[in-house]
Amino acid sequence: MSDTQWVYFFGENGRAEGHGSMKDLLGGKGAGLAEMTNAGVPVPPGFTLTTAACRAHMQSHGVVPEDAETQFWDALTRLEKVTGRELGGAHPLLVSVRSGAKFSMPGMMDTILNLGLNDLSVGAFERETGDPRFAFDCYRRFITMYSNVVLELPRTKFDHALESMKERTGAENDAQLTAESLRELAAEFLAIVAAEAGRPFPQDAREQLRLARNAVFRSWMNPRAIEYRRIYHIADDLGTAVNVQTMVFGNRGSRSATGVGFTRNPSTGEKKFFGEFLVNAQGEDVVAGIRTPRPIAELETELPNAYAQLREITARLEKNYRDVQDFEFTIEEDRLYMLQTRSGKRTGFAAVKIAVDMVDEGLIDEEEAVARVEPSGLDAFLHPMFDAAERKKYKAVAKGLPASPGAASGRAVFTAEDAVKWAARGESVILVRKETVPDDIAGMKASAGVLTATGGATSHAAVVGRQMGKPAVVGCAKLRVDEAGGATLDGKPVKEGDWLSFDGSTGEVMLGRVPTQPSEVIQVVMGKRKEAKSPLYQMFTRFLSWADKHRKLKIRANADTPLDARIAVAFGAEGIGLCRTEHMFFAPDRIPLVQAMILATDEAGREAALSKLLPMQRGDFAAIFKEMAGRPVTIRTLDPPLHEFLPKREDLMVKVARLEAEAKAKAKAAPKKPVKKGAKKAKAAPPKDSKTLVDTRALLQRVEELHEFNPMMGHRGCRLGISYPEITRMQARAIIEAALLAAAKKGVAGAAVPEIMVPLVGTSNELRHQKAVIDDVAAEVMKKKGAEVQYQVGTMIELPRAAMTADKIAELAQFFSFGTNDLTQMTYGFSRDDAGKFLADYQDAEIMKHDPFTTIDVDGVGELMKIARDRGRATRPGLKIGICGEHGGDPATVGFCHEIGLDYVSCSPFRVPIARLAAAQAAIRERRGAKA
Ligand code: ADP
Ligand code: MG
Ligand code: MG
Repeated sequence: MSDTQWVYFFGENGRAEGHGSMKDLLGGKGAGLAEMTNAGVPVPPGFTLTTAACRAHMQSHGVVPEDAETQFWDALTRLEKVTGRELGGAHPLLVSVRSGAKFSMPGMMDTILNLGLNDLSVGAFERETGDPRFAFDCYRRFITMYSNVVLELPRTKFDHALESMKERTGAENDAQLTAESLRELAAEFLAIVAAEAGRPFPQDAREQLRLARNAVFRSWMNPRAIEYRRIYHIADDLGTAVNVQTMVFGNRGSRSATGVGFTRNPSTGEKKFFGEFLVNAQGEDVVAGIRTPRPIAELETELPNAYAQLREITARLEKNYRDVQDFEFTIEEDRLYMLQTRSGKRTGFAAVKIAVDMVDEGLIDEEEAVARVEPSGLDAFLHPMFDAAERKKYKAVAKGLPASPGAASGRAVFTAEDAVKWAARGESVILVRKETVPDDIAGMKASAGVLTATGGATSHAAVVGRQMGKPAVVGCAKLRVDEAGGATLDGKPVKEGDWLSFDGSTGEVMLGRVPTQPSEVIQVVMGKRKEAKSPLYQMFTRFLSWADKHRKLKIRANADTPLDARIAVAFGAEGIGLCRTEHMFFAPDRIPLVQAMILATDEAGREAALSKLLPMQRGDFAAIFKEMAGRPVTIRTLDPPLHEFLPKREDLMVKVARLEAEAKAKAKAAPKKPVKKGAKKAKAAPPKDSKTLVDTRALLQRVEELHEFNPMMGHRGCRLGISYPEITRMQARAIIEAALLAAAKKGVAGAAVPEIMVPLVGTSNELRHQKAVIDDVAAEVMKKKGAEVQYQVGTMIELPRAAMTADKIAELAQFFSFGTNDLTQMTYGFSRDDAGKFLADYQDAEIMKHDPFTTIDVDGVGELMKIARDRGRATRPGLKIGICGEHGGDPATVGFCHEIGLDYVSCSPFRVPIARLAAAQAAIRERRGAKA
């Protein structure tokens, strides 16, 4: 027998064996119960079976290790002694059996309340309390939960029986059912179990406990828990702890209640006590949306003593944990018990506001504030809001609780499956439900917003909405959802597919699609609103300025236009990491020139077209350099295959056919020319084809010549510049001339620092070729203008071969930038445009955890990056290395880039704040890790 401690007791002589820092082993809930017990907070006694036992249970396919089993039952005996009661005995002990993993997964796994009741003990319980109504209320709840979780019977039969009992007796809600109704209901429930399960409800209390415990372990692997972990990247092998805890009863009459709350508003971050309660209710009643709960402020008049104590305890807990607490409590006959406390999940808004406030309150320091906020949560500051002028044109038809902020517009769907289906087709949807349940999570994720009829500000829809950053309005009383699918809002019908809009900050719901405008922060960034008039913006930038103090990585943006560049700088970008020149070619006044260049049959023809493009490109770059005011700008020479600039082959074929048909019809309709006498009876010469037809045919022919079977690996990148050096030459000239222009205007201090980047290099000779072209042009331009420009020539590392030969490439390249989109495509051999079709299957089959096009594949692509870094810097010490793929804005990837010592990450302008924060967190993690 090992001396592993599998069970941790809490609540004997006011002490607990575990403590708050043992989340790995005790789960968040178990650790919190231990911590609260030790802090002298009233917590019903109990014990925690560790997550290690769950892992052992999983590995042995359902067997709990023998010594864990022994310790478990010893702990039960100890609990019976502490409480002076006996499970299933004449003086019955009732317990809850609660799951609780390291990370809270709201409602994903199961809890069973009132365990220990059976036909005998319910009688004892009734005599002891002198309250048959209460005793049978507990029993019927227990039978339902146990049957659902342990016996795996659907809840519907029980719910229907309950509903029909309420109907028969005229009770409006559960709390109005009489003792007799509840007694009858319990009997009905037992009959349902016998019929559905084919065996009677288990009467042995210890057997109940054993099976419930194992069911809680099993629920770790239920589909919705797995789905939840997938969304939040929580490892499947952590396991859950099981907490067995003495019951306290909020359903014991009018001086009893149950509730949940937050020490601050988790939606807005406002420092205001927040929560809900229900009198004479138990457990999940508040969260489940069965009865709409009351705001917690009303508890003050209802049960003033308990309320005062609750305020005192929760304030203490917040101070102790130095974070917002999400707590659960029960009041039994005016006595308060705390059942749970944990860090509250909050929206991105609230996260920043709370962190900033707590710094001002002296609770935490700036570093801690930076470390705490989930980088992706910053998105909340960038979400569009309703356009104030447009919004006035729509009347709010209903109002619910503003549970999660943001403007949402979408088409109504009534099931989670439909939400997923519609969203997959690219539709924006609003998930409309009576209330959401944990199984709805995928549908919520797919929706633009969630609207529910019942449930309070701490209901499932509200909690999950906030966590996902989804706008949500809950408890919307004027919303009726009928089971057949369909709903009404204030009596007006809402059918599937109808447009709805709502404001998660005010709770207002509108019919139709209300137009949106950019968020307040973006308005300031775009110069459409004064910074001084936006406290929100000030808070946002103040917070990010703290992040900047910590990060080592520089942050650049991928920007192709002067406007992009301006936004990027306003968001804190320190340079442009990728300026894609091809995007400039698509402008309507340029595409004909680009096409003329492509159609030219010789170099002279191409040069002629390019010389017309030159001033335009120069103008582009000059404008970008001006915006960037001396910050580095990495400009990539032409990358995509030329056919991307030409019309589609199919379209051209249709056009040719149409023109031919038109020409034929015209020829027929034209009056026949009189045939000259004596002339040979020759066929009349066919009419001359129109110029359009000739041109279109030529275009089609060129498109066919350029057709590639696999364009991703075709004639693109530096391969173009090698076949057509005049293209590279024109671009280099435009860049250097523009830099000279900028320098002339700005003076040396503001001089542009162009970094000319050659794409898709696989061998050093390719780069040698292109570098020679660029250097020649640059020398010529500088000589002609009699001025110098500091410029660099570097390359993208986006082919595995480039990574492997980085030592050779670095002899020429003055910088590297990882093009991780192509590098991922080429490393996996996945085409990014096609991988969407099967990557979901890969994730389902757990072949891949993450989409490698979103988060860098550390083991493969990441390893190539390290090789390139090492070999590149071996040749050229201190070589500047960045990343400019889509991954540059992904927090996990930013962390990786910090770890491997890159100089900068470059991402889309709107992700710059996220990257700043992620980079700071990576640096903080590293420093803390080094300290620990
Ligand atoms: P979750 O992790 O889903 O929040 P919990 O284990 O916290 O599940 O339990 C769900 C509900 O049951 C909570 O509202 C909690 O207050 C209530 N509950 C749990 N244990 C007890 C207990 N010992 N006495 C009274 N209520 C309890
Ligand atoms: Mg809970
Ligand atoms: Mg590329």
